[in-house]
Amino acid sequence: MILESFVQGQWVRGKDAVEIRSAVTGEVVAQASGGGLDMGAILEHARAVGGGNLRRLTFHQRADLLKKLAQYVNDRKEQLYKLSFATGATRTDAMIDVDGGIGTLFVYASKGRKELPDGKFLLDGAAEPLGKAGTFAGQHIVTPLHGAAVHINAFNFPCWGLLEKLAPALLAGVPVVTKPATVTAYVAHALMRMIAESAILPAGALQFIVGPTGDLFDHLTCQDVVSFTGSADTSQKLQRHPVMARESVRFGAERDSLNAAILAPDAAPDTPEFNLFVKEVAKEMTVKAGQKCTAIRRALVPANRVDAAIGALRERLAKVKVGNPELEGVRMGPLVGLEQRRDVLGHVGALRSEAEIVCGDAENFPVEGADSKTGAFVPPLLLYCAAPLRATKVHAVEAFGPVCTVMGYDGLEEAIALANRGDGSLVASVYTHAPEVAADLVFGIGSFHGRLVLIDRDCAEESTGHGSPMPGLIHGGPGRAGGGEELGGMRSLAHYMQRSAVQGSPAMLGGVTGKAAG
Ligand code: NAP
Repeated sequence: MILESFVQGQWVRGKDAVEIRSAVTGEVVAQASGGGLDMGAILEHARAVGGGNLRRLTFHQRADLLKKLAQYVNDRKEQLYKLSFATGATRTDAMIDVDGGIGTLFVYASKGRKELPDGKFLLDGAAEPLGKAGTFAGQHIVTPLHGAAVHINAFNFPCWGLLEKLAPALLAGVPVVTKPATVTAYVAHALMRMIAESAILPAGALQFIVGPTGDLFDHLTCQDVVSFTGSADTSQKLQRHPVMARESVRFGAERDSLNAAILAPDAAPDTPEFNLFVKEVAKEMTVKAGQKCTAIRRALVPANRVDAAIGALRERLAKVKVGNPELEGVRMGPLVGLEQRRDVLGHVGALRSEAEIVCGDAENFPVEGADSKTGAFVPPLLLYCAAPLRATKVHAVEAFGPVCTVMGYDGLEEAIALANRGDGSLVASVYTHAPEVAADLVFGIGSFHGRLVLIDRDCAEESTGHGSPMPGLIHGGPGRAGGGEELGGMRSLAHYMQRSAVQGSPAMLGGVTGKAAG
């Protein structure tokens, strides 16, 4: 399978080809053909053709496009599940990626219809009187940028990553140039083929770049936006590009995150909350083999419950069958590739300078239906850090695999201090049945986290869990997590729109507000 870019309305082969290998067998599954594309022309096509086409539509018409697209992909998603096996994803993992992306389109479509006007512009707040006689006032308006949204995605969610960034950009009226991570680009490519074949989106609304972005950043302007998901290193490199500063190009990033789960002191081993904590930590370690930006990396438990928590986690993790993700009964597939396995094991090595492995042996573990040497398999690895207040690596090194470190705390203040040592995370979850404990923790760690999940016996059944970003709620986090906010209901459209103050007479402002209404 040769992967091509979809640019300026056509499928185009690049000048170089990079082999992509199966995470399970190590065999070549696709060739990414990238490089040599005219990035200036691609951005110009987005701005001139895509932007014009999208801005001619109202919010409701654009919401309808998202809904149609969601339905179209939903009817054809089986193909995406099948392709995902080679990335190491089980069927459940693939559903999180594929259905999660489709669901995000549906939610933005529905919210766009319900919460936005059937117009082309937004008003922000009421008119602000500015003169005693009432002949002069001010009004904030919000208009779509006239540029392109450049979306650079991580390998772990080839479908969700593309669609969850696409939904708010298109709804705002801004065309997208999307770039998948190369190692799983064949899944994103199949999705892009579907989208192009559907012909639902207007010309220029979505372009797809395989391989390197070349000189794309040289052509960015103040009307363009970059949304990046991936490592902190790449993020910083991109942000340092001179054009980013010169043109004040908007940049949103979702990066590394040392997310915490906090077992509260009231959650003794015989309570439902203790069991929910154990279940969630084990789930977050093993779903997508722990390759989730939101996965629990640090499990904080009261010092006197460390043994009980480790014991219960060991028991649960022992039941996880690792192997070929296509096989019935296999709960965890391999990491995305051998390079990622080297990376994860290297990071585990760094963590071991401050923590000991208490469950899992990366040198010796059963692999079902695949070869542990040629596939990128790693077993769930649970570590224990005895001195977390003095430690630094367990709060900073993200082993992007089935890896989590348990650490004890003494009192809520210490739990808060430890959770915040992640220096900004996407999410933390709290397991307690005591509302006052939950409130203390929420306000103690809120400013360091983008999302907080309170899990107890009352909400467990309906809870969407620690690791699932919800389209209507914030996905993003401060500091190490990148400082972005790429999901979060209609407010996430602000990334793609400009807020301006308009001042004038009531009649003039009336004309402006009337046009915004549609
Ligand atoms: P990565 O190496 O930083 O790559 C991320 C993306 O950037 C890929 O599409 C990559 O393309 C592209 N890229 C790399 N160098 C580039 C350059 N010079 N110019 C333009 N694009 C460039 O990260 P990764 O290994 O794919 O992802 C793993 C990391 O992502 C983890 O650390 C994880 O924490 C983070 N992550 C965060 C979130 C979140 O929401 N916070 C979600 C998922 C993952 P190529 O593949 O072609 O190199």
